[in-house]
Amino acid sequence: MAGVRKLRLSEKIIYLFERLHLFKGAFIFSSMLKIGVTGTFCAGKDTIARYLESKNFIHISLSDVIRDEARTRGLAITRDNLQLLGNSLRNQEGAAVLAKRAIDRMDQNTKLYVITSIRNPLEVKELAKTKQFVLISVDAPATLRFERLMKRTERKESDPTTFEDFLASEQREMVSSNSTSQNIRSCMTMARFHLSNEGTFEELYKQLDNLLPLIETAASYQRPSWDEYFMDIVQTVGKRGTCDRGRSGSIIVKSKRIMATGYVGAPPGMVHCDDVGHWFKKTIHEDGSITQHCIRTVHAEANAIAQAARYGISVDGATLYCKMEPCLDCTKLLISAGIRRIVCDKRYHGATESREMLEEAGIILDVLHDELEQYPGQKG
Ligand SMILES: [Zn+2]
Ligand SMILES: [Zn+2]
Repeated sequence: MAGVRKLRLSEKIIYLFERLHLFKGAFIFSSMLKIGVTGTFCAGKDTIARYLESKNFIHISLSDVIRDEARTRGLAITRDNLQLLGNSLRNQEGAAVLAKRAIDRMDQNTKLYVITSIRNPLEVKELAKTKQFVLISVDAPATLRFERLMKRTERKESDPTTFEDFLASEQREMVSSNSTSQNIRSCMTMARFHLSNEGTFEELYKQLDNLLPLIETAASYQRPSWDEYFMDIVQTVGKRGTCDRGRSGSIIVKSKRIMATGYVGAPPGMVHCDDVGHWFKKTIHEDGSITQHCIRTVHAEANAIAQAARYGISVDGATLYCKMEPCLDCTKLLISAGIRRIVCDKRYHGATESREMLEEAGIILDVLHDELEQYPGQKG
């Protein structure tokens, strides 16, 4: 048993050392990571991909996606065939088709991917939609890149043979006004990190080793969606509420701009529940059960509408974000004010009639977390 404990401790120490980057090039990736590599001709994109493969990344080249399609269709793998097939795929399925197909190949259980042959900004956008994706670019002076091409043992027939041809051929794939064509320059400007490959392989690997922790940090940041963003604001607004039975917040949003905010509380100038206690009234339900409700407050949703009314802001066609599904009174008010969509964080136990009424009025009701909001004194 002592041996097992010893091993675990040493593993922990190695892990800590690696996190501190004291072991050169031994960075451990804690979550899924997709690194896209773009860059100029012969700048070192494949060298980067191969190095990452040595660190357990799976390499997907968007050019291979076309090659595989050509094989499926029984076409000869020639540069002309591949170019024609690429264009026909983009025309039929959109400019991001290769990126989409590459994403389809990704397995959720595989953590690390490196994607190369990214040549169109829409491909970058498609890959970025999958989250945990970071694009890097690599470049080097043109003379050096041409030298590298000349030294290549496996050169294609179509590869340029003079420096002038090299520059002209590069220009064709670097910039284009056609949205479906190759536009590497635009892709490079979309990269989060840039590498300059002017030295030896070792120097390039060292740059990558230094960059990998930064790439992982950048990839792990998840930008909130609009709904998440506004719901976060609802939570903050609700903190100003003065009745602790819910402390609800609400905001009204139009064209992604906040029109009004509201939180649960007594009307302005009146005493607050938090200061003098609740003002309870009992409700006897049809099944005989009795619940009590605090009637001092204006609800968060009603207060947002009141704020808009006070300042002359139209909320017609707007979206309302709130902590839980609205009560029946607020629902009627929201319909009358012209709210077209309601986004709630959770469900409200007494919202059956509200849901029916919203459906009848054709108002969209989205509940982000399909669970009941709990608060004191609620009816089962
Ligand atoms: Zn109260
Ligand atoms: Zn209400």
